[in-house]
Amino acid sequence: MSDTIKINVIGIAHTPYKQKFGIPRQPGLAPGIPGTIEIHAPYNREEAFRSIETFSHLWVNFIFHGIESNKWQSMVRPPRLGGKKKVGVFASRSTHRPNPLGLSVVKLERIEIKQEQLLLHISSHDLLDQTPIVDIKPYLPYSDAINEASNGYAPAPENNVYEVEFSSRSLEFIDNWQHEQAANLKSQLINILSQDPRPAYSKEDPQKQNYGMRLYNLDIQFSIENNCMKVVNITQI
Ligand code: SAH
Repeated sequence: MSDTIKINVIGIAHTPYKQKFGIPRQPGLAPGIPGTIEIHAPYNREEAFRSIETFSHLWVNFIFHGIESNKWQSMVRPPRLGGKKKVGVFASRSTHRPNPLGLSVVKLERIEIKQEQLLLHISSHDLLDQTPIVDIKPYLPYSDAINEASNGYAPAPENNVYEVEFSSRSLEFIDNWQHEQAANLKSQLINILSQDPRPAYSKEDPQKQNYGMRLYNLDIQFSIENNCMKVVNITQI
């Protein structure tokens, strides 16, 4: 067997995360964010997915297509160690791996089949828009959920670390936003921002208090004051 293997991309993810900044560090951290996996031919056959709806969650194998370079690093600085301490790449979930393969458990909301299109509607994911998908398998809690497993150097993050506030301007935007997710946008922003999406180096910079992130077709401007994330303004891009 040769040292390289060709793998087939079976589909593509469509998600509100249009840039890496703002994506939760693991899939379960921002529940409620929707997404779809569109399966490509010849894998978009109904029988290839038959009975998948009997599972609530799926393992998704994907390609980190949005990394800046394909260079892997033997040691990385995980955000959970404040971006200061290094650990081995294989002791991390870093994207700078020899093979840019990501792995996430996502919630399966429903499967939709219309004509040639096969769509898996998902939520609680951490996938950048347009992520190439290479495999899907059911998540099996009896075997995959290990209660006594240790979290190593990455203990479970506290829930809702930051309070999230909205300016009256941003609330007005949300009220008038014409989008199928309009009713959910506020709670989605609370989920994302309460986890503090900032990279470690940026938290250390006292001058940097204003941030912008893209979600859907929106530019979300927020600021940090006294442990509170404030959505200052939202504009359509
Ligand atoms: N759950 C995955 C991802 C962990 S790293 C795993 O364990 O393999 C998490 C980061 O991956 C996110 O914060 C996001 O910025 C990044 N990410 C998600 N999809 C990506 C993509 N297609 N290309 C590059 N980075 C991506």
